[in-house]
Amino acid sequence: MWDWSKLSIVRGDITKQKADVIVNAANVSLLGGGGVDGAIHKAAGPELLKECKKFHGCPTGEARVTKAYNLNAEYIIHTPGPIWRGGFFDEESLLRKSYVSSLKKAIELKVKSIAFPSISTGGHKFPLDTASEIALNTISEFLNSEENEIENIYIVCKSEDTFNQYEESKRKLVG
Ligand code: ADP
Repeated sequence: MWDWSKLSIVRGDITKQKADVIVNAANVSLLGGGGVDGAIHKAAGPELLKECKKFHGCPTGEARVTKAYNLNAEYIIHTPGPIWRGGFFDEESLLRKSYVSSLKKAIELKVKSIAFPSISTGGHKFPLDTASEIALNTISEFLNSEENEIENIYIVCKSEDTFNQYEESKRKLVG
């Protein structure tokens, strides 16, 4: 059984979160954008964009690692989550893949803490109820099945609605 006390759902701005890794809900260009992506680039500083340009983009569901520059973290893991297109284009498995790819990178980096935003539920329009269940299921199942040193996982929710939905999904899962 996975230890759910390792996972905290918090309200706030992920750019202010202290964690070894901050995950960015990027887009496939990796060149910044709106929402959490824009906030992370703004807070990290312009050197981040320079490093991101070297990747020449990233496919949906994969992840790339950069330094964290001015953030209170060691690394940023950038993952483009799927754009919701009615659920007919493998969006659920691609969202799972974004979480798993990010966690695999974090395990390789041997970090102890990681902060996720609610990937895909802003501009990418993934329905929040399903997305929050996928996020919590995927994180708990993956970390339960893989050897890892991660002690703290934060899901950082900017809005109250997002926070409440994650809390509800966690209650459904954990009881
Ligand atoms: P996506 O394109 O993957 O949907 P968005 O950034 O548009 O990404 O939205 C993903 C989630 O991140 C939304 O719940 C949005 O409210 C939230 N968000 C936006 N800015 C921040 C921030 N600074 N910290 C944490 N979450 C944020």
